[in-house]
Amino acid sequence: MNLARQIKQYLPRQLLELVNDISKQAAEQGQRVYLVGGVVRDLLLGYPNFDLDLVVEGDAVKLAQQVAETSQAKLLAHHRFGTAKLRYGNFTLDLATARKETYAKPGALPTVTPGILKDDLLRRDFSINTMAISLAANDYGELVDPYQGKSDLEHRLIRILHPGSFSDDATRILRGVRYEQRFGFEFEAQTAQLLKRDIPMLDTISGDRIRHELELIFKEKQPELAIKRLGELGVLPRISPFLKGDGWIAEKFDKARRLKKPTQLPSLYFCLLIYSFSEKNIEQFLARLNISTKLSRAIRDTLRLKTRLPLLGKPSLKPSEIYYLLREYEPVAIQANAIASDEKEDTPSLIVHRYLQLFLTKLRYVRTSLDGKELKRLGISAGPEMGQVLQVLHKAKLDGEVSTRADEKKLALSLSLKL
Ligand code: ATP
Ligand code: MG
Repeated sequence: MNLARQIKQYLPRQLLELVNDISKQAAEQGQRVYLVGGVVRDLLLGYPNFDLDLVVEGDAVKLAQQVAETSQAKLLAHHRFGTAKLRYGNFTLDLATARKETYAKPGALPTVTPGILKDDLLRRDFSINTMAISLAANDYGELVDPYQGKSDLEHRLIRILHPGSFSDDATRILRGVRYEQRFGFEFEAQTAQLLKRDIPMLDTISGDRIRHELELIFKEKQPELAIKRLGELGVLPRISPFLKGDGWIAEKFDKARRLKKPTQLPSLYFCLLIYSFSEKNIEQFLARLNISTKLSRAIRDTLRLKTRLPLLGKPSLKPSEIYYLLREYEPVAIQANAIASDEKEDTPSLIVHRYLQLFLTKLRYVRTSLDGKELKRLGISAGPEMGQVLQVLHKAKLDGEVSTRADEKKLALSLSLKL
């Protein structure tokens, strides 16, 4: 099958120019170069994907250097182990020397030696990711498909390449579910069996690698689909005994995504994912996934605030009272609790939800109009006195007792007389 016409239609002009430059240079150097992986899969599916990966039979770094010298593309990086990155306009493109991988033991990083294209495709996760397109002059556009990727794509199947695949690298369990749910595909029967068998192999994977795969899931359009499926398969409890992927999570993830400004969306997903944990059992999870200090703080805050929500369940709290209760928590932790408490039926939780929203959208941004300099001009000296005045002004502003600068001046002067 030849895809030259589809490549031309599919790639933006700049990328096509770059690809063709690379193809020309490779021919001059006597190297063979191929488009591989996700872009070939997505081109056949008709989905846009301009993250191009190229495999070179030969020396990818040498080729990338040559392309950078003779075209407008820039060499962004290159590495001893035979990979390079080029930029042209708004696009970047990765080149890698074809490699062969062997695993010394499950979960370990593979041992890498130079290889040919077929070796490079065999080390990959699923058949749908093993297709390549030749960019050589004599067979430009020809599909290379040694592991039946195209047939599996047509039958909508996720298939591993050999029975030891999941135990070699159990992150493929998470990757497989991500593709299954993204495309609405199914695991091929034997792959499904081996996946279940090898779930315990997740214990051999480092926290950083598992967390990275969760982060990739959180970048999907609907991460809750993969999370739910990982729950059903029993993968989540293998990562942490208290992790669940139930309907509650699905509903809340969907709400998180619909927020007007979903800042820190991946962190928010993490905070919702662990919402059913207790403060005691979260520590094992944070350690297992080697979660950063910043995200750990947000996650711990989420659970600490959850236990204190009843304090917010009173219908007549003043804005300043809400502010003082909430100011010590990370905003993303407050957001997670706001989403968690957004229930239709239950009134106390609706009140809590409104207060949390009020804090997030308004109270946390309230500032006094007067600053220290202006207070000094009114005769208030710097130091504890001024601190006190500013605090009272801020509280009055939160509670709507002052609104204009004149109001604040009047209040500041009356306070300074009393102090
Ligand atoms: P997408 O980016 O759309 O999720 P992709 O195919 O580009 O899909 P990447 O994560 O960018 O996926 O990885 C590039 C290629 O590297 C994949 O096509 C895959 O075959 C291979 N790959 C990535 N991780 C693994 C792994 N753990 N085991 C085997 N192959 C892998
Ligand atoms: Mg990719």
